[in-house]
Amino acid sequence: MSFESLNLHSDLLKALTELGYSSPTDVQKQAIPMALKGEDVMAGAQTGTGKTAAFSLPLLQRLLTLPSQAEQSAQNVADKPSGHPIRALILTPTRELAQQVYDSMTAYAKYTDLKVAVAYGGTSMNVQVKALNAGADILVATPGRLLDHVFNRSVSLSEVETFVLDEADRMLDMGFIVDIQRIMKRMPDERQTLFFSATFSKQVKKLAFDILSEPKMVEVTPANTAAETVAQMVYPVDKHRKAELLAYLIGSRNWQQVLVFTKTKQGSDKLAKDLGLDGIKAVSINGDKSQGARQRALDEFKSGKVRVLVATDVAARGLDIEQLEYVVNFDMPYKAEDYVHRIGRTGRAGMTGHAITLMSLDEEWALKAIEELLDTRIPQQWLEGYEPDPTLIETQSVHRGAAAEKRRAKAKSKIHQNRGKHVRRR
Ligand code: AMP
Repeated sequence: MSFESLNLHSDLLKALTELGYSSPTDVQKQAIPMALKGEDVMAGAQTGTGKTAAFSLPLLQRLLTLPSQAEQSAQNVADKPSGHPIRALILTPTRELAQQVYDSMTAYAKYTDLKVAVAYGGTSMNVQVKALNAGADILVATPGRLLDHVFNRSVSLSEVETFVLDEADRMLDMGFIVDIQRIMKRMPDERQTLFFSATFSKQVKKLAFDILSEPKMVEVTPANTAAETVAQMVYPVDKHRKAELLAYLIGSRNWQQVLVFTKTKQGSDKLAKDLGLDGIKAVSINGDKSQGARQRALDEFKSGKVRVLVATDVAARGLDIEQLEYVVNFDMPYKAEDYVHRIGRTGRAGMTGHAITLMSLDEEWALKAIEELLDTRIPQQWLEGYEPDPTLIETQSVHRGAAAEKRRAKAKSKIHQNRGKHVRRR
């Protein structure tokens, strides 16, 4: 299938050719025809599947071919007191993702007259107001900053024709539900909504049910599955030796461009520092850093100046880093769904990626939850010289009482069973 056969506008086709897109990805093949018809779409697609173009192209095409409300009612939009009316709104959970969607949207719209603006926190409101007033048709925004602009009357949502909710699952994880509801109230009921999420929990489905009208479903990588092109491996190791093991793996196996996940912001900073002390160039990216610092870290990583990017789940969300070969879970994620998100950063576009997990014994429960979610067993390997020390289980276990006692006994017996086995496939 070609982009031409999707009947896209010649201005869009020209941009796609320039970007080197020769044929649509799965999610694009499925979502674009439905969205072009004006249907609501609910799509299960992770970053890396081409989801941005899957919603951007039909959105742009409809704006190019349908008259705006202002044109229809011949209103003078400049006279409106409630702010500049936009025709399409894309909400993303993080600043980085907003910037990336904006960059993609701008590239796709390059040969059209449509204007795209972006609004997220941590940067000047004024610059964003100017871009809106310059006649933006499309706004890409994070929820908090968008509401600032709504209350500031720099933007009006009353004429939104297409609304895109990108990474809906992460929006909910980040506690944006109330903001989303406030935003929804300001948009017309009659609009098209395109809903994208990598995973579908009960809460995500409820949100979809609340905001979509008779949606058409699109699913490329079935939700809650890990890409088949990702080789997964768990290395059990004592918590205090994780940084040492990671430095050893990166150095001895010559891994380049490694994305490492930690649970906490402090943990990400400390690990980047520890790796640096071991001679491995690393930067951290987390919510405590300024927008400029986050962008700089990302650029350094992308350009290969630094070898390791250490990130928290929130900070890493939506990062468009191509051809990543190694993703490391330095800490187990809080939620099993995050494991799917994390390892979705590797093994893209048919190439094999590696997802490596360093697991201390007190994190076994999290591995169980992940294996349950994926309905699979992830292979484990004990690395010589880094085998966990059974005498440390007491201090590593965070639980007390009889249940914890039972867990400790079980873990200890497992360790004895596994002593001497170099590779353990389960
Ligand atoms: P996304 O899932 O939207 O973050 O896209 C992942 C990457 O795939 C981005 O770098 C896009 O530029 C690229 N991409 C999206 N669609 C296509 C396509 N049809 N052909 C080639 N590359 C694409």
